[in-house]
Amino acid sequence: MSSHQPYSFFKSVEKSFDKAAKFTSFDPGILEQIKACNSVYQMRFPLKRDDGSVEVIEAYRVQHSHHKAPCKGGIRFSDEVNQDEVMALASLMTYKCAIVNVPFGGGKGGIKINPKKYSVYELEKITRRYTSELVKKNFIGPGIDVPAPDYGTGSREMAWIVDTYASLKPGEIDAAGCVTGKPVTQGGVRGRTEATGLGVFFGIREVCNMPDVMKKLGLEMGIKGKTVVVQGIGNVGYHCAKFFRENGATVICIAEHDGAVYNPAGLHEEELIQFRNKNGTILNFPGSTTLPKNSDALELECDILIPAALENVINGDNAQRVKAKIIGEAANGPCTPEADEVFAQKGILCVPDMYLNAGGVTVSYFEWLKNLSHVRYGRMEKRFTENQNARILGQMEDLTGKKVDADERAYIMHGADEVDLVHSGLEETMITATREIMEIWNNNPNIPDMRTAAYVNAINKVATSYGELGIFP
Ligand code: NAD
Repeated sequence: MSSHQPYSFFKSVEKSFDKAAKFTSFDPGILEQIKACNSVYQMRFPLKRDDGSVEVIEAYRVQHSHHKAPCKGGIRFSDEVNQDEVMALASLMTYKCAIVNVPFGGGKGGIKINPKKYSVYELEKITRRYTSELVKKNFIGPGIDVPAPDYGTGSREMAWIVDTYASLKPGEIDAAGCVTGKPVTQGGVRGRTEATGLGVFFGIREVCNMPDVMKKLGLEMGIKGKTVVVQGIGNVGYHCAKFFRENGATVICIAEHDGAVYNPAGLHEEELIQFRNKNGTILNFPGSTTLPKNSDALELECDILIPAALENVINGDNAQRVKAKIIGEAANGPCTPEADEVFAQKGILCVPDMYLNAGGVTVSYFEWLKNLSHVRYGRMEKRFTENQNARILGQMEDLTGKKVDADERAYIMHGADEVDLVHSGLEETMITATREIMEIWNNNPNIPDMRTAAYVNAINKVATSYGELGIFP
């Protein structure tokens, strides 16, 4: 519980849920069942440190909902981990997966450590022991519960998890599907790194392609020509900036922890990263004006504002000064409930984190499917498609007597690789999710914002799936 919040994180998720549940007509008991965390596993195990001392490690795995199997959600390594936080994050995963039609229940794991204070060898021992504790209690497996990276963990930890799991389950042919976010050499999937930023782009692009929404906001249709501000140039922010720029938007400002750079003619994210790698800061990037306060970026005149760094950055204090027409919540929880109220008043459209940043879990789903099918995406059809395209193109050229240029030829001939199929699946997912949420919002004008409409969508889907299990009516 933070000093600003009168209630816990889990309670605040329940409150958002209750706000949306009023717009559904499900039995109160079913709504209670959806909100509840089904299983909470709290564990303690010893770690022998490099200096020979023994430390007790506190860790959790929460399975919020079993309405679909397996459960899915990241593992976080942080000093701040506690049961309430893991429960809240697991429930958010249930709703997120439901919204983007990924057939998993929500889960989340956490180990209460600051990974910077441990050697790589100690981190490996902690991760492997955590995995074997999960195996002992049947809390991990391709059909049970499938972790992924989160704050403080990455593909290295996922490789340790899959190795431990496989060694404890000899002969389990689907063992690689026990965790996602693995290195590509260990059964990971191509396209995971850019997935969240690309998903944000697809979601916002879909909103910008809706004539009624653009009319209400007083904006032209499409991404081309829109001005964009990005806060945070880490993994998510970098890829957001890249995809918006490549599709004709102008990224006029990028903010980092130590300030922001502004150039109305447009910034190039790759050049900015190269500059930061050399100078240790983005400030004074050639051709740009430096804004000393990173929060100034949030208040610039622009069409689209993408907070992609931290939580609670747009709140009751500064929401009134936000001039963007659209806010795309790439980060988790960048806007507070007080900010939502201001946006509703000012007619700002806030596209919610709950689904907008679901690119990571969507591509995790594709990785899991790849692991279960034991074949790389594109392997079977790539060559066939290329041969067929060559034949069609040859016929067209013979019939017309004209030849297409080399770039166009390469595009037409190309058969889909793994990364093409992953991007295409992500595009389909984000377009469908955006349309579903907008339809719910359009059909119920009393729903105050897109966030609540997204929750309503999640509740409808989870409740319906309980119905399909025969739990109600
Ligand atoms: P990251 O650590 O790669 O990047 C965060 C960036 O924000 C860093 O460059 C950091 O210097 C910068 N930053 C820190 N404080 C700032 C401030 N006050 N103003 C401006 N910039 C600041 O993290 P990430 O993976 O890009 O994640 C960013 C956000 O997106 C987080 O909220 C995360 O939970 C969320 N998210 C990430 C993913 C994913 O796949 N990586 C998926 C869903 C949600």
